[in-house]
Amino acid sequence: MSEDERRIETRAIHAGQEPDEETGALMTPIYANSTYAQDGPGDHRGYEYSRTGNPTRADLESNLAALEGGSYGRAFSSGMGAINTVLNLLEAGDHVVAGNDVYGGTHRIFTQVYEKYDLEFDFVETTDHDAVRDAVRDETALVWVETPTNPLMRVNDIDALADIAHDVDALCAVDNTFATPYLQRPLEHGADIVSHSLTKYLGGHSDIVGGALVTDDADLDEEIGFYQNSVGATPSPFDCFLVLRGTKTLPVRMDRHCDNARELAAWLDDHEAVETVHYPGLDSHPQHELAAEQMDDFGGMLSFELDGTLEQASTVVEETAVFTLAESLGGVESLIEQPAAMTHAAIPREERLEAGLTDGLIRVSVGIEHIDDMKADLQQAFSAAF
Ligand SMILES: *Cc1c(COP(=O)(O)O)cnc(C)c1O
Repeated sequence: MSEDERRIETRAIHAGQEPDEETGALMTPIYANSTYAQDGPGDHRGYEYSRTGNPTRADLESNLAALEGGSYGRAFSSGMGAINTVLNLLEAGDHVVAGNDVYGGTHRIFTQVYEKYDLEFDFVETTDHDAVRDAVRDETALVWVETPTNPLMRVNDIDALADIAHDVDALCAVDNTFATPYLQRPLEHGADIVSHSLTKYLGGHSDIVGGALVTDDADLDEEIGFYQNSVGATPSPFDCFLVLRGTKTLPVRMDRHCDNARELAAWLDDHEAVETVHYPGLDSHPQHELAAEQMDDFGGMLSFELDGTLEQASTVVEETAVFTLAESLGGVESLIEQPAAMTHAAIPREERLEAGLTDGLIRVSVGIEHIDDMKADLQQAFSAAF
């Protein structure tokens, strides 16, 4: 059976991870070295220098490509390192269209780093396809898509947005960090590049920072590889090993993340202290049907609005114990945060409210602990606040 025909649970464990030929070692070794002996000048065995290529990284890159159903993977020292490399593909004067609720770091690198290199960015509501069609033009070289988005869990239609991008010969890149390839494979929906923060679900244990790009296009991959080597935001072999360790259990972890999030979303939806729950798995979610088509399950991220003040929401996130008050997401442990006071505090209040980020909004990364302990923890925190 070829690698491509195997199910994702099998690929997660075996793709790019053949036992070592010489020793039979089952796990990919950590090749902790910078350089490689050559048999003659330029006559090497595939590796010259570890920024350019490293065997542990190569196995991770094969594994990530196989998970996304793509042909080529490239690993980076952070998700931002990966996103930076997508921007390296552009030329001065190019135009980029992105969602108006993209990840904060993405918004920052677009506007505060690349605008000064004469790239132009427009942020639009990407669930509104007319708005995206109006925003693209001849100079548009990239349409940047996130789905589900943070923290309101809006779901974007990858097929439709890739079509709009391709109509103007632009690339469509999808940040697949929230869904992971276990739930959503953007290349199957017309995306040209898939971007990841490996820091989140793919690493899965809150112990590394990393990023990746996957594509099916050999020329695009060669260009990405050129910038990966030229810029040098490459991950250490040890970090690559940890992500390989993480991806082996991605399917089982995601199943539990999804089950717990589904049950927690329903419980919160029924709770008197909660006004609204944002979770694509709920029938009430505005893009629930699209999510059901595009995703294999609805993921482990959700947010909810308390029927209360900024202070009451702060009390809730301070009082939880199973949920740790922290930024980031996608690890086995449950995390909780308050966007208005933390990740999105820099946005002026009026603007923040207009974007739907209310004072009482709370975002949780639902971990894989027991669901009853999560509910009890939130209940005691609600009781402390109300
Ligand atoms: C965390 C994150 C990033 C950035 O990744 P880092 O590994 O923190 O550099 C990009 N996109 C999304 C959706 C993220 O959650």
